[in-house]
Amino acid sequence: MGRGGDAMNALEVSDVSFAYGPREALRQVSFSLAPGRFAALLGPNGAGKSTLIALLTRLYDLQQGDIRVGGCSLRDTPRPALKQLGVVFQQSTLDLDLSVEQNLRYHAALHGLSRRETALRVDAELARQGLDERRSERVRQLNGGHRRRVEIARALLHQPRLLLLDEASAGLDPASRLALNRHIRNLCSEQRISVLWTTHLLDEVQPSDDLLILHQGRLVARGQADALSLEHGGDLDSAFTRLTTTGAAR
Ligand code: ADP
Ligand code: MG
Repeated sequence: MGRGGDAMNALEVSDVSFAYGPREALRQVSFSLAPGRFAALLGPNGAGKSTLIALLTRLYDLQQGDIRVGGCSLRDTPRPALKQLGVVFQQSTLDLDLSVEQNLRYHAALHGLSRRETALRVDAELARQGLDERRSERVRQLNGGHRRRVEIARALLHQPRLLLLDEASAGLDPASRLALNRHIRNLCSEQRISVLWTTHLLDEVQPSDDLLILHQGRLVARGQADALSLEHGGDLDSAFTRLTTTGAAR
């Protein structure tokens, strides 16, 4: 699939604000994400992470600002923009009574993949997620970590340039949580996919990540995690707590 203009940002969020009626959920959020980068969007519950994902996936219409995916504006050219997105929502959207493979096939059909393409892509992604041997099992029979992997395989079927994961590790035990995090990082570096990984847990952030800290709808810190850490005296942990417990946005 053509990925022309690889130097172009995978994602550009420009001055995005959003309110639920009188309730402001995002205020003037701007950032960009380069190809092949892993960005951690870190923020406590209620920070606005899922709202941003809902805007990125066009579940909600933009009220202010714009979002560009691979250079395509979500406002002006939503179809080509959405085509470049893969998403794993906070709440699982798998059909538990369908098999792993059926869940994937259904999604491929929604994306308009041909029968042949579907077979190839389903095989490739199941193999990559180590789910080959589970393909005929009902999703209900899988543990939480494997269910997440099915969702990731599904999100990658149409070969998006940007993968969004909203608290993908929530509800998993610590070992599965970190394994999933590692797994996504590998995808990111091997496939040159850009990833936006939302979490409220600092231990899912690595020094080389692009780190975006969201608090009460505002980005209160943005930069490479190791640089931000240095900026805060080497202690990102207490900086995160400080930045997200008060109204002290910069
Ligand atoms: P996060 O995903 O970081 O936990 P959300 O984006 O879910 O944060 O929520 C951001 C803010 O918007 C919170 O104050 C939340 O209560 C509010 N909010 C989220 N969804 C709705 C909704 N459908 N209606 C009204 N307020 C909402
Ligand atoms: Mg959320």
